[in-house]
Amino acid sequence: MNKKKNKDNEWENDPEWQDFFDHVDKQGPWDSKDDKIHTIGGLTNDKEGGFMEFQNKMDSNDMEDEIQIEEIHQEAMKILYIDMDGVIVDFIQSAKNSPDYEKYINELDRIPDIFLNAPPMKQAVRSVNKIIDSKKYDVYIASTAPWGNIESLSHKRIWIEKYFGDKLKKRLILTHRKDLLIGDYLIDDRTANGAGKFKGKLIHFDTDQYPDWASILKYLSIN
Ligand SMILES: [Mg+2]
Repeated sequence: MNKKKNKDNEWENDPEWQDFFDHVDKQGPWDSKDDKIHTIGGLTNDKEGGFMEFQNKMDSNDMEDEIQIEEIHQEAMKILYIDMDGVIVDFIQSAKNSPDYEKYINELDRIPDIFLNAPPMKQAVRSVNKIIDSKKYDVYIASTAPWGNIESLSHKRIWIEKYFGDKLKKRLILTHRKDLLIGDYLIDDRTANGAGKFKGKLIHFDTDQYPDWASILKYLSIN
């Protein structure tokens, strides 16, 4: 019995375990290679401080953006939100272009890549660029990404960069509650997803009053 026990405990004599036992009850800090103080989230700390450097860089990037936004507000620009589908994105044309059109006839917004491959609406890219370049309005995109089409969130982001480059960088708001947005104007072709209850002025696109982008530019006094 004793013999078996001794054999079972032979590992305790292993020098590496002995070394471990010597350290296990001691208070830190130990050698940096042993000390948990030198780890972050279970990862070994980068002694050159690379992680902190990365975090500081992120903070400074965010601060630069905040300063820019503050400067814009100081100039008292009106905040203008622009919807995507049916306003700058030709959703219907994209659906018709898709080989899956018939298959998804009752749920067009679930057609794979429908948002990624969509062409722009007539005059939309040129008109939005004119509004941004005028510096009269602080422009954001306010769109609803269908919950059932998960890729649509990133596809909308890719679409904005494809047609506007960096001009609308970090200015994309995806929401089902446009009524919660704070601002002066919302250009939208529907009243769904809170657009009808937007607290500023709803510029209802594709109506008798605002049938196209030319009528909107005129309303916004953009030449
Ligand atoms: Mg729309």
